[in-house]
Amino acid sequence: MSFTQAPPTLLNQFDEDRALRSLLARLLPADVLADVEPSLREMGRLSAELYPAQLADRLSEPTLTQFDAWGNRIDRIELTPLWRTAERIAAEHGVVATAYERAHGRFSRIHQFALAYLFTPSTDIYACPLAMTDGAARVLLDSGNAMLIDGAVPHLTSRDPAAFWTSGQWMTETTGGSDVGGTETMALQDEAGEWRLHGRKWFTSAATSQMALTLARPAGNPPGGRGLALFFVETRDDAGTLRGIRIDRLKDKLGTRKLPTAELTLDGTPAIPVAGLSDGVRAIAPMLNVTRTWNAVSAVALMRRGLALAEDYAARRTAFGAPLARQPLHADTLAGLRAEWMGALHLTFRVVELLGAHETGEGDDAGRALLRVLTPLAKLTTARQGVMVASEVVEAFGGAGYVEDTGIPMILRDAQVLSIWEGTTNVLSLDALRAMQSAGAMHSLGTLGPVRAEVARLAAQVRDPMLVPVAEAAVRAVDHAAAWLADASAAGRAEVEAGARRFVLTLGRALEAALLAAHAEWEGDAQGGDAASAARRLVRNGIDLVHAVDAGGAADVAAHPEPSHSALRSATS
Ligand SMILES: Cc1cc2nc3c(=O)[nH]c(=O)nc-3n(C[C@H](O)[C@H](O)[C@H](O)COP(=O)(O)OP(=O)(O)OC[C@H]3O[C@@H](n4cnc5c(N)ncnc54)[C@H](O)[C@@H]3O)c2cc1C
Repeated sequence: MSFTQAPPTLLNQFDEDRALRSLLARLLPADVLADVEPSLREMGRLSAELYPAQLADRLSEPTLTQFDAWGNRIDRIELTPLWRTAERIAAEHGVVATAYERAHGRFSRIHQFALAYLFTPSTDIYACPLAMTDGAARVLLDSGNAMLIDGAVPHLTSRDPAAFWTSGQWMTETTGGSDVGGTETMALQDEAGEWRLHGRKWFTSAATSQMALTLARPAGNPPGGRGLALFFVETRDDAGTLRGIRIDRLKDKLGTRKLPTAELTLDGTPAIPVAGLSDGVRAIAPMLNVTRTWNAVSAVALMRRGLALAEDYAARRTAFGAPLARQPLHADTLAGLRAEWMGALHLTFRVVELLGAHETGEGDDAGRALLRVLTPLAKLTTARQGVMVASEVVEAFGGAGYVEDTGIPMILRDAQVLSIWEGTTNVLSLDALRAMQSAGAMHSLGTLGPVRAEVARLAAQVRDPMLVPVAEAAVRAVDHAAAWLADASAAGRAEVEAGARRFVLTLGRALEAALLAAHAEWEGDAQGGDAASAARRLVRNGIDLVHAVDAGGAADVAAHPEPSHSALRSATS
């Protein structure tokens, strides 16, 4: 009765991550890689160092104190110790700033998101406020609003923890987060001409942020998404008092429990229009593109953390006379998960690469169209993979995976949010479809134009006979998806929508397989290389999820044609 199981441990998370290092070696010129590597290695070190602190801080959660001893409303949120550390590290290491300093031009986005990928898993979803901060900086810069750019962007992109601001993104109301067209918050001008917001925001993460971007309907504007305007809110005055904002309560959530997600009442909150007094949903779209990219990076990062722990554990844990790592079925299970993670890694950093090129004006029209399609596609594909991998990681630890103080259950709970916020899988499936239809029409390429061209480009790079079947499977899956879309379109809109999730997941997985195969070709080890093994395994896991058109299914939906599809255009178009 004296046996004690050694727990899993983590070493430097940059040095240990062969897949990331190989990917960066292809994406970055040698001089840029040499320049950024020390910062990534340092973040990899911090990530491993913070892990025990994260476990030790497992039970602490943010608290809301609404009143002081004398009955004054104070609405003060106390953050957890690790979050305070995370904020300092994020600022000092430029986890947002790197993208805006652009020391390496379009490659700075790759550098920044590699930092974010290493930072995220040990910092209790501090990626959430950073994502919104990055997105807010992007929106403000795109808006051309000089006052807000000068006043806020230097804070959002600061490396000085004392000057650094985070931003909230207050969109979701009780009427809906997918369909924000029903937003009830009103914007009224007071006698001095200042805009003031009145309403209730139902999910506001990072409620301690110094600023937020939010949607409200200026008095007199029409209903629906078009009538909304985008507003900038500075949350506190110079004395630190909330400006016409009440924090009603913090959400009691399945996961992301260190993240203070609040319900707010806006009661005369001073606000500044960011870009005119309508079309706010359009104005906030760049924020969503950035936060969705962060979401994909977070999904890949959580998968990586789960696998790093599970693989380490498999070498330490013995069953039936051998370490789990040498039990063929356990090893095969982990290999299947590794393929999902590596596919997700390559798809996500393809988006990051395109984003960097687009932001620095180095992209072309085709790159822009591809970025528009791949952003929702990568977000939804990697989020589903993240939940699946995290669930399998729990099982890979057996009973220990189900026990809270191992820290493993937290990975699953945190991963689950990734398919909900920033657009659910279904909502983003429809958004990706819409993006493909408009890109296809614009470039006369047909609906699947950008995706098809990308898969064809990648397949053309693959020559090794060990990899060619992977590239062929990717092309076949995209062709099958295209054929399904043609059949479904003929059967009607309900049929297209009903199959949209399987359709876009097929495209996402086909892209991952093609990206892995092309990378494996570049690595030059088609037999035993990591990317080659992952590429073949991803195809065996299944990349084509499309079902034949099911007339019965469409009839079911057509019999209940209530939802208005125009409403969906709201948050994501
Ligand atoms: C931890 C957490 C933090 C959050 N933080 C923020 C925040 O900081 N700011 C913010 O604005 N929001 C935030 N949200 C809210 C989040 O963005 C929304 O919950 C999400 O967008 C979904 O909106 P909803 O909850 O209204 O669900 P609904 O829109 O009601 O969706 C319910 C279900 O219906 C499906 N669905 C909806 N429309 C369709 C359709 N046309 N076809 C098929 N399926 C459909 C959805 O996929 C979903 O499964 C947060 C949420 C969570 C869980």
